[in-house]
Amino acid sequence: MTSPARQTLQEVFGYDEFRGQQQTAIERALAGRDSLVLMPTGGGKSVCYQVPALLRDGTALVVSPLIALMQDQVSALHELGVPAAFLNSSLSREDQDAVIGDLRRGELKLLYVAPERLVQPGTRALLSQVPISLVAIDEAHCVSQWGHDFRQDYLGLAGLAEWFPGVPRMALTATATALTRAEIIERLALTDARTLVSGFDRPNIRYQVQAKTDGRSQLGRFLNQHRDEAGIVYCLSRKKTESTAQWLEAEGYTALPYHAGLSAEKRAEHQRRFLNEDGVIIVATIAFGMGIDKPDVRFVAHLDLPKSLEAYYQETGRAGRDGLPAEAWMVYGLQDVVRLRQMADESTAGEEYKRHERQKLDTLLGWCEVTHCRRRPLLAYFGEELAADCGNCDNCLQPPATRDGTEDAQKLLSAVYRTGQMFGAAHVVDVLLGKDTDKVQQHSHGQLTVFGIGADRAAQAWRSAIRQLVVQGCLRVDAERFGALVLTEASRSVLRGEQKLELREDPVVTRTRRRKGKSSAGEEVAITDIKLWNALRDCRQRLAAEHSVPPYVIFHDSTLRQMLSDRPDSADALLEISGVGQAKLQRYGDEFLTVIRQAG
Ligand code: ADP
Ligand code: ZN
Repeated sequence: MTSPARQTLQEVFGYDEFRGQQQTAIERALAGRDSLVLMPTGGGKSVCYQVPALLRDGTALVVSPLIALMQDQVSALHELGVPAAFLNSSLSREDQDAVIGDLRRGELKLLYVAPERLVQPGTRALLSQVPISLVAIDEAHCVSQWGHDFRQDYLGLAGLAEWFPGVPRMALTATATALTRAEIIERLALTDARTLVSGFDRPNIRYQVQAKTDGRSQLGRFLNQHRDEAGIVYCLSRKKTESTAQWLEAEGYTALPYHAGLSAEKRAEHQRRFLNEDGVIIVATIAFGMGIDKPDVRFVAHLDLPKSLEAYYQETGRAGRDGLPAEAWMVYGLQDVVRLRQMADESTAGEEYKRHERQKLDTLLGWCEVTHCRRRPLLAYFGEELAADCGNCDNCLQPPATRDGTEDAQKLLSAVYRTGQMFGAAHVVDVLLGKDTDKVQQHSHGQLTVFGIGADRAAQAWRSAIRQLVVQGCLRVDAERFGALVLTEASRSVLRGEQKLELREDPVVTRTRRRKGKSSAGEEVAITDIKLWNALRDCRQRLAAEHSVPPYVIFHDSTLRQMLSDRPDSADALLEISGVGQAKLQRYGDEFLTVIRQAG
C-alpha cells in the first residue's frame, strides 16, 4: 500500500520516488520528531518539509533568510495548488493583513517568514494563536559564526523550542562539515534531533581547475562551449564583475553584473532577468547566489579563488540542479592566494578565526593542485567516501603527467634562499630564468650562483612548481610581507636531497572538449526534434508569462525533455512524466498535449 507521504509526493509533486533521506526526514516530522537534514544543493530539501506540512494539521512555518527565495518558493507552491504565503518586509500593509487573515482562518499550509520577523514579539504573539504543524529552518548554516553566511538574526532562533513546544523542528542546509553540524545543533538547541545525511556527490557536475594565465581569454574559450546557456561567473571584486560583464557583452553574450554596490533595484532586475530569460550570464561577487534555485544553470565559473572548499562547493552547487550535465570551471594563481591571505590577515577578527581561515584556504589550494580524481577529495572533505574515480573531472578525463621534480624543487628553493626569502614568485622566477630586470640589477642578483639555473624551463612551469611546493608544505607564502616566499622545515630535507618530489606537468594549452553523448550522470537525452523542442519551450514561456513565474516553475527542462522522448498522448501518459503532478496536469496538461499532437 502506498503511504500517505508517497501519495502526496506523486499527486502533488509528480515524482515517483523519494530521494536520499527525504522519506526518513518526512517520517520523523510526521512522528513529531526533530531532524537536521544535510543535503547537497539541488538534493531536494524543500520536499522534506513541504510533504509533512501538507499532511499535518495546522500551518508549517518555514524560516528562510532571503526574500527573493520566499517569493519563488511560494509561487512554485501555488503552481502545485498548495496554499502558501510569506511574511516579510516587502509586503504592503494590506497584503500583510490578507496573509494574517488567511493564517487565522487556517487556510495556509505553509508560511515563510524571515528570521528577523519571527523573533519580533508581535509575530510570536500572532503565531501562538494558530496551530503550527512544523518549523523548518532553511539555510541553517547561517547560525554558524565561522561559516561564510553568518546572520545575526539566526542566533535568535534558539528560542524556537520554547516558543513552539511540542512542534517538530527541521533544520536544513547544504553546508555540512562536522564543525558546522555541531554548531547548528548547539545553537538551534536541536538536542533530540537525528542528523540525516544524503549523498553529497553531484555526479552531473564536471569539475575543472586550470592555472590562471590570462583569466579572461581562458574564460572566453570555456564559454565558447556554452553559448546561449545560463551560468554564473564569480569574481572577487565589484570592479572586476563590472568589467568582465562589459567584456562578455562585447563578445556577444548577455551578461549582467551583480554585487553589493549596485542599487537594490538593479540587483533585483538583474536577478529577475537571469531567472526569467534564457541564456543569461550573471557576473557576480559572492553577494549573489544563496537561495537561487534556478534549475538549469549550466555552468559556474570562478575567475578568482573562493574562500574555502566549502564556499566552492556551495557556489558550484548552483549548477545543474536539474540533474543534466553542468560544469564547474575555475582558474587560479598564486596571486589569488596572496590576496585572500591578506584579506584574512587584515580582518579585525581574532587570532583563532584567522588561523581557521588560513587553514581553509590551504585546504582549497591543496585541492586545486591534486593530480588524481578531484571528486574524491572533495567528497572526503564532507566526510563521504567515493568507491572509485569519478570519470567526470579534468584529472579523470585527462590525467596530468607527473615527473620527478626533485631537482627543480632544489633549484627553486635555492633561489628563494639565495635571494634572502624576501621576494614574491615573479622575481624568483625571473632570477631562475636569468632575466636582466631592474629589480635584478638593483639587488645585484645577477651575481648569484642561482641566476639563470632554471632557463631550461618556461616561466609557467616555474610558477606551477611554486604553487605545488606551497601546497606540499615545502614553501610558504608570507602574506604579511606581500607574498614573499619563505622556506619551511620541509624545504630543508628537499634541499639536502632526503626527500623526492613529484611535480605535475601543467598542460601548456588546456582545452576542454565538448562533452558528447554519455556523461557519468547518465545518458543525455539528445534533442532530436528541434521543432517540437522549441514548440514545447515556447508553450512554457507563454504560460510562464501568463502566470508571472519563471519558465522553470511551469516545468523543468528535464520534464520537457522527457515529453520530447516519450511523446505522451493522454493525461495518464503525461502523469507518468517526472515533474507532472495533479495540479500541473489540470492547469497545463491540455496545452502541452496539443503541442505534442500537432508535432505528429
Ligand atoms: P534544494 O533546496 O535541496 O537545493 P530543491 O528542494 O530546490 O533542492 O529541489 C531540487 C529539485 O529537485 C527541485 O526541482 C525539486 O522539485 C526536485 N526534486 C525534489 N525531490 C524530488 C524527487 N523525490 N524526485 C524528483 N525530483 C525531486
Ligand atoms: Zn574524477
